[in-house]
Amino acid sequence: MDCIFCKIANGEIPSATLYEDGDFRVILDLGPATKGHALILPKKHYANLHEIPEDMAAKAMVLAKKMAGAMTEALACDGLNVVQNNGEAAGQTVFHFHMHLIPRYKEDHAGITWVPGTLTDDDKTEIVEKITRELAK
Ligand code: 5GP
Ligand code: ZN
Repeated sequence: MDCIFCKIANGEIPSATLYEDGDFRVILDLGPATKGHALILPKKHYANLHEIPEDMAAKAMVLAKKMAGAMTEALACDGLNVVQNNGEAAGQTVFHFHMHLIPRYKEDHAGITWVPGTLTDDDKTEIVEKITRELAK
């Protein structure tokens, strides 16, 4: 399979590596939203959150916490976003699971935000019913 993140994660293509272990490589994003924008890549290929096994998802989040602490200290950022896109509609462009770690600086204008909509009572009832029914399956 021709997957750029498989090649980067496994060292076939060189990258600016911040951290590596048996399961993951953490690299700098080539098109950073802010200074220090990094990506957590599992070495095995999973297309997205739906495909990654639970134990690997748990390890990825523990690593996100470790990286977020180190990055915040090292870069003296004012905040940090953890972003993980699934599907084209959600902005995913590389279909190998990854987590974005985006250091935030006051007035950085990175724009990782949305315009708040409204939640009607009908929406609330419908959404809660649909999802709780799915979870109970
Ligand atoms: P997505 O939009 O799929 O959540 O994020 C893909 C990210 O990968 C983007 O932020 C993009 O800049 C980054 N990216 C794409 N190709 C490469 C690459 O070859 N090397 C690195 N380091 N980052 C890449
Ligand atoms: Zn891959």
